[in-house]
Amino acid sequence: MFSKIVIANRGEIALRILRACQTMGVKTVAVHSTIDRNQKHVGMADESVCIGPPASAESYLDIPKIIAAAEVTDAEAIHPGYGFLAENAEFAESIEESGFKFIGPRAETIRLMGDKVAAIEAMKSAGVPCVPGSDGPLNDDPERNLSIAKKIGYPVIVKAAAGGGGRGMRVVHTEAALNNAIITTKTEAKAAFGDGTVYMEKYLENPRHIEIQVLSDMHGNAIHLGERDCSMQRRHQKVVEEAPAPGLTEEERQQIGSVCVEACKRIRYEGAGTFEFLYDSGRFYFIEMNTRIQVEHPVTEFITGVDLIKQQLLIAAGEPLKIKQSDIKLNGHAIECRVNAEDPNTFMPSPGTIEIFHAPGGPGVRVDSHVYDGYKVPPNYDSMIGKIITHGEDRITAIRRMRLALAETVVNGIKTNIPLQQRIMSDQGFVAGGKNIHYLEKRLKEHK
Ligand code: ADP
Repeated sequence: MFSKIVIANRGEIALRILRACQTMGVKTVAVHSTIDRNQKHVGMADESVCIGPPASAESYLDIPKIIAAAEVTDAEAIHPGYGFLAENAEFAESIEESGFKFIGPRAETIRLMGDKVAAIEAMKSAGVPCVPGSDGPLNDDPERNLSIAKKIGYPVIVKAAAGGGGRGMRVVHTEAALNNAIITTKTEAKAAFGDGTVYMEKYLENPRHIEIQVLSDMHGNAIHLGERDCSMQRRHQKVVEEAPAPGLTEEERQQIGSVCVEACKRIRYEGAGTFEFLYDSGRFYFIEMNTRIQVEHPVTEFITGVDLIKQQLLIAAGEPLKIKQSDIKLNGHAIECRVNAEDPNTFMPSPGTIEIFHAPGGPGVRVDSHVYDGYKVPPNYDSMIGKIITHGEDRITAIRRMRLALAETVVNGIKTNIPLQQRIMSDQGFVAGGKNIHYLEKRLKEHK
């Protein structure tokens, strides 16, 4: 095992990684921007290095500075967390070239999955079911594009190959709108991701978002840890996640899980990863693979008892997976509510000082948050200030525990989306379970 690693992130995930390291006896180096000096994990880390001003481009996204921090502190590996450089192949490559270990898959894998067109191609040949689509990038030939869309059938969705974070996609309902939509998406993708490549997929009208968590080592061993249902979304961004997915049968789980495991072996995947699918009328359609730890990983940890960050470290250190597929038994149900510093009605970010923070507790309650009394939420980064995760022997127990946990939580001084999360936890449709990706937005419109 590594003796010391750099945590190249901030906020709740930096703290989560630090907690895993401290329980494993691995020393930690926190790298932080000037505005993040008082982050909880910075105070708790064995060492810390200030890597620049608040702007991410000059700190958390600055590859040479992060590698320099590993050099001066004699660290052996770098954990990227999620967001920032977590899915940047160049980052992974530079780390390895500088003689450190990147805690995540090989740069080549990150590059493959970062290009959604290539990822779909690779998955298709590995036997993973994909959304019917253009089978490759779209070119500038309007006739060709029209004929592809006609074959797929409207509505279609035009997506950026380099897209992420729910950005760079456009739904097209009619032939007349297609070519303009392609041009606009291309232009936007070029500006946002530096790559104007776009492709087309059938737009599934009422799917659920169900994803499979995998762990895969350097020795050809791979397992899946069941699924998460992340259908409660706003603007293609997840708001609530849960595991297992309501109504999914054990047979469906094992079937799609083993397809993912086979795909991991085939691409020689190394680390923790997530296969994201849309699930419609009993069928799975691959949309993308995330080559990193995800925000919603705790729901899987709750129902499987596996510490996913610890597994990431073990795999990166070259250990063979000790957990076998038959060891994975799903226990009960877990739900995660993301807590954001934002107005619960307008969704405008609400940075500022948290005067009082009081976390909930009790059986089956987990809080992953870096905030504390007097913590200043900076305006420079993502608005998430933490996650509340609850577990119970069944879904309704997890929901009841979440209602109580949300009611117990105190965040004074800034606005948060807790009132929205409370409405969701009491919503009849949510409580019934199995709603599709449009459900939350539909309910939000009705609420206005
Ligand atoms: P990103 O990398 O930006 O998260 P994804 O490809 O994972 O993009 O898609 C994010 C979300 O967009 C999905 O969870 C779903 O809500 C919607 N979406 C993507 N592709 C389709 C599709 N073919 N049909 C319907 N909805 C889609």
